[in-house]
Amino acid sequence: MRRDQERDQCRSARVDPGAGRRPSGPRQPGLYDAVLLDRDGTLVEDVPYNGDPEKVRPVPGAREALDRLRAAGLRLAVVTNQSGLARGCFTARDLSLVHDRVEELLGPFDHWAVCPHAEADGCACRKPAPGLVHEAARALGTTPSRCVLIGDIGADTTAAAAAGAAAILVPTPATRAAEVAAAPTVAVDLPDAVNTVLARMRLTGGSQPAPRARRGTVLVVRSDAAGDVLVTGPGIRAVAAGARRVVLLCGPRGRAAADLLLGVDDIIEAPLPWIDAPAPPVDPDAVRALTDRLAAVHADEAVVFTSFHQSPLPLALLLRLAGVPRISAISDDYPGSLLDVRHRVPAGVPEPERALSLAAAAGYALPEHDEPTLRIRTDRLPRVPDVVGEPGYVVLHPGSSVPTRACPEDLATRVVRVLGAAGHRVLVTGGPAERDLTARVAAAGGVDLGGRTGLADLAAVVAGAGALVVGNTGPAHLAAALRVPVVSLFAPTVPFGQWGPYRVPTVRLGDAAAPCRDTRATTCPVPGHPCLSSVEPGRVLEALRLLGVPAPVTGGVAG
Ligand SMILES: [Zn+2]
Repeated sequence: MRRDQERDQCRSARVDPGAGRRPSGPRQPGLYDAVLLDRDGTLVEDVPYNGDPEKVRPVPGAREALDRLRAAGLRLAVVTNQSGLARGCFTARDLSLVHDRVEELLGPFDHWAVCPHAEADGCACRKPAPGLVHEAARALGTTPSRCVLIGDIGADTTAAAAAGAAAILVPTPATRAAEVAAAPTVAVDLPDAVNTVLARMRLTGGSQPAPRARRGTVLVVRSDAAGDVLVTGPGIRAVAAGARRVVLLCGPRGRAAADLLLGVDDIIEAPLPWIDAPAPPVDPDAVRALTDRLAAVHADEAVVFTSFHQSPLPLALLLRLAGVPRISAISDDYPGSLLDVRHRVPAGVPEPERALSLAAAAGYALPEHDEPTLRIRTDRLPRVPDVVGEPGYVVLHPGSSVPTRACPEDLATRVVRVLGAAGHRVLVTGGPAERDLTARVAAAGGVDLGGRTGLADLAAVVAGAGALVVGNTGPAHLAAALRVPVVSLFAPTVPFGQWGPYRVPTVRLGDAAAPCRDTRATTCPVPGHPCLSSVEPGRVLEALRLLGVPAPVTGGVAG
């Protein structure tokens, strides 16, 4: 029997969505306010047809793990599908008794969010729909993006992501391999998942005291493209909160994104050619010129943000030569005398949290009022052209500078057709080099904006979108910074948990277990780009429904 069918069967649960036990408190600093837990298979052993409190068996280590979350000040809720109610398999009273038994064994939960419907009811709360996550967050006095959900099947992680919450999958033998591959984070058991939650909160400085007195000029560094700069935003804002002046060193490909970041006083645009792939030969004159420019900043310290596969050490040497007295960076390699703060981060941490954790290690935490989300300066966005029309459209951005991370053209074309038939207005965007691509894709029934949008223009267009359909490329992070939901056609060449859209409602599509997984390939190593070209366009329509993006106009199909 497949697990997601089992899920519907006769169990017990209390149908009392308003039954919070403790009043919700104020939000606390740090990554999360609350942890949401699936019930069957996650908190307690999955016993099909169980309406009997005597058969409630917690998973090993559950009580102690939950108590550690409670001790950390996190609020706890259960989010559970119990369609056995709709089918009459058990009564609300049975459900209540089973939940009393769960609390007797595992301690109190601040809220129980229960979907009592059957799949055929088409409700908005049954996972993988995000309704229970929204309900639980509301009941706990917080938002989904400040929640992390722990569950054992894909419906759990999908519901969490579609609401904008983080998710950790704890597979059981019944969990499908595809669900494990697609999960942003995987833990071996419930105590391990709890360790992950608490470790991420510690890493990002959530429990740190307020930063020391403001420091002087801090040079922050993030090379690479727009997306890389955008995901570093929370780390840079943390530095800005504790520095008098922040100077950002970025590369030419990241400049437009750097202009949109908050907390940056000045920008130095200079390539770090040794980081590029393929990297050109080292030019001694260019290195000397860069060192002189860095010295002219008169920085009191530098914080070098890098991606997980880059070394900060070559630049750290230049910063030393430029006289920067204190340098912080993440480095697994021995840094010798090049770093004053050598920070290390476990694998799998989302890039924005990696940046925040380095800032925290250097002594900078985000102020309490600043959510650890991506943000951009919306006051710097230009007016959109008239052809864009009223907000609520869907933006499809098929291209990417890295071919593996783009949406295959044939799929993009079919998506435009299917969304158009359902009544969606689709705008197709792309850079100047992608005009031909966007023209061909838009010909299927969309509006072609190819070549008409620089990054700030693109941000202005995305800001009015109901959702963005995009591969793993910069605009996905732009959407996250604008709180615009993302349908992510994510090639698994890099880990989704690190590079997926951060803290924004997202539905991931594509084959997460494809052979290109974790290869970091820039051109697809498998003929036909099957990880994405296998996606059915109708799945994009379903994803939009999960994200709560209705077709805004009444077409032949939409009602
Ligand atoms: Zn429901």
